[in-house]
Amino acid sequence: MYSGESLYDGESQSLPHYLGLFGKLHRFRGLAPHKPILLLAVLDEVERGNIPTNLIELTPELVASFRAYWRTLVLEKGFVERIANPFRFLVQDGFWTLVRDGIAVPTAELGDNPTLRQLTTEIDGAQLAPDLWNLLRDETSRNALRAHLLKTYFGISAADLAISLPANPLEDAIERLKLEAQAKFRTNVVKETANETGYYLRHSLFPRVVKSLYLDSCAVCDLNVKTDTGSGLVDAAHILPFHLFHNDDPRNGLALCKNHHWGFDAGWYSFDSQRRVIVSSRLQNWLGFVSVNAPLRPTTDPDCAPALNALEWHRTHVFKR
Ligand SMILES: [Zn+2]
Repeated sequence: MYSGESLYDGESQSLPHYLGLFGKLHRFRGLAPHKPILLLAVLDEVERGNIPTNLIELTPELVASFRAYWRTLVLEKGFVERIANPFRFLVQDGFWTLVRDGIAVPTAELGDNPTLRQLTTEIDGAQLAPDLWNLLRDETSRNALRAHLLKTYFGISAADLAISLPANPLEDAIERLKLEAQAKFRTNVVKETANETGYYLRHSLFPRVVKSLYLDSCAVCDLNVKTDTGSGLVDAAHILPFHLFHNDDPRNGLALCKNHHWGFDAGWYSFDSQRRVIVSSRLQNWLGFVSVNAPLRPTTDPDCAPALNALEWHRTHVFKR
């Protein structure tokens, strides 16, 4: 059972105390914008109801919010957009503890430069001092803390900011991923290290983006069985296998039901250069499973249709002729 109260045993502190701490964050080179941006994202995600308990996790919502703030507020190129850094180093500031199973994790275990993958596997998230968490649940306190961060570190007001910040950073991130799909699709391996935060978000959102392109239905048979809680029989499949290519471009995805996902990965069928079904000569009794020459269902956004060079790779390397 998760119980964090024991991590902090100081006296309950008030808003002025935390305004003070928020106003003098320990920052890399005395200038780095990472910590104030992460705290702004946390404030917003609490407000949106995406952080319901005192455990701040590296969710797609939080990362999307961090990225939206970064794009809006960090105009100089000198700093690398990395959410892992402030997530690790806010422990210096007296109100942020990294926890696993409700117990504080010594930061020495994580080293000075943990990757996002390391953080998401080795800790559950961060816990705030309980009195700060109580303040964050109150709208007036949140507004005061947000205004203080914006004024202290970026010299702007919340009203100035509202003009350029997307109302829903997660939806904005999804739209951006679809827009990125206008560049040339390449079949080389995507490097995780180039922009770790962007890579992580793209990977977290891949299932959502791909399924939305097919209205949550299988691209081969149109099956769309799901429960009211959103679990269902349709997966977001990678055409170029993820373990080989790390490519979460929407054009490397297909929404496929469990049967068609399995059969596709096994090379039982593939698609020709017109994105029409071709069937392995080794497959038997396949009537009702696939129809030869049937076209793939179209994507809601034509720019995000499955890449022809990815399908060609599947035909060459996976399909059992
Ligand atoms: Zn299907």
